[in-house]
Amino acid sequence: MTQGIEIRLKSRPKGMPTADNFEAVKVDVKDPGEGQVLLQNLWMSVDPYMRGRMRLANDGDPLFGGTIGRVIASNNADYAEGDILSHGLGWREYALSGPEGLMKVDPDLAPLSTYLGVMGMPGMTAYGGILEIGKMQDGEAVFVSAASGAVGSVVGQIAKIKNGTVIGSAGSDAKVAQLTEAFGFDHGFNYKTANALDELKKGAPKGIDIYFENVGGEQLEAALTHMRPHGRVPICGMIAHYNDDGTASPGPRNLTETIYKFVTLRGFVVSEFEHLREQFLQDMSGWVKSGQVKYFETVHEGIEAAPEAFMGLFTGSNNGKMLVKLAD
Ligand code: NDP
Repeated sequence: MTQGIEIRLKSRPKGMPTADNFEAVKVDVKDPGEGQVLLQNLWMSVDPYMRGRMRLANDGDPLFGGTIGRVIASNNADYAEGDILSHGLGWREYALSGPEGLMKVDPDLAPLSTYLGVMGMPGMTAYGGILEIGKMQDGEAVFVSAASGAVGSVVGQIAKIKNGTVIGSAGSDAKVAQLTEAFGFDHGFNYKTANALDELKKGAPKGIDIYFENVGGEQLEAALTHMRPHGRVPICGMIAHYNDDGTASPGPRNLTETIYKFVTLRGFVVSEFEHLREQFLQDMSGWVKSGQVKYFETVHEGIEAAPEAFMGLFTGSNNGKMLVKLAD
């Protein structure tokens, strides 16, 4: 028997989550039964989609999410003590898991934390989203919102690798400077202070071919207005709406723009891209090694910091992938 802390949803958030919505509870974790492994979690991810799950969870439910753990006891022939696994039982220090959802990661290929970021779910979201859903062609003009974040920064850098003209938006001047200086984007703007349509005209005077949607609201409207014929809008997320509590105004107001421009809007989830995983890992590890894809991480320490890290996603306190480090 092992003891560890897990984070539970104390109450469903109304609007923006607050610290009162979470509680840290010390629990007993059993030894592995037949087919099970016991993991010590090393890194856990907080992600915007978890806000949606909180609408469905009941008060007192433990939370879940992507995490990287080390096997400390195994009753499964496929996994040995010391193996490093990616799995879905985050928000806790120790996890007892069956074989479902376990995936070995290669600690020699990339730093462990990156398997929750550029080499993990957000990286694959960017890869499949821009290449398969956005069908990006060499040299096209791409606009991405939440551009300094885990997904957005990779979208823009893949678009640069494909010789695109890349425009990104972010919520602070420091993040905007990073878009051009660190990631090599052609143009960046602060969506809190600038007019999105004016900025798109500056960055891509002939219009954009792809808008990679992470945010929603006014930026989607500006993108539709400035879209070129046969433009594509991979709809990855709409973080500006995740804390809406039935008060969101209808929109976008200019969907008519899609008609005579033959624009495709296509929502997607990363689980659609499982068939790309091998290619993704090969391409991304190469790009990271060569410096063609750079990444930043914001790291909180200790399981009890997980709620603060999660809430920070909605105020932009992260620069790149938001992570919680649980153990060495
Ligand atoms: P990020 O690392 O981009 O962090 C979230 C960022 O969103 C914040 O840093 C903040 O940046 C920005 N943001 C927060 N609130 C607002 C707002 N009201 N308006 C505009 N920007 C805001 O997170 P991820 O890269 O993990 O996720 C990015 C998007 O991708 C999300 O919408 C997420 O739900 C989606 N996603 C979808 C997946 C799928 O399978 N479809 C999988 C993974 C992610 P700033 O400081 O710039 O405001």
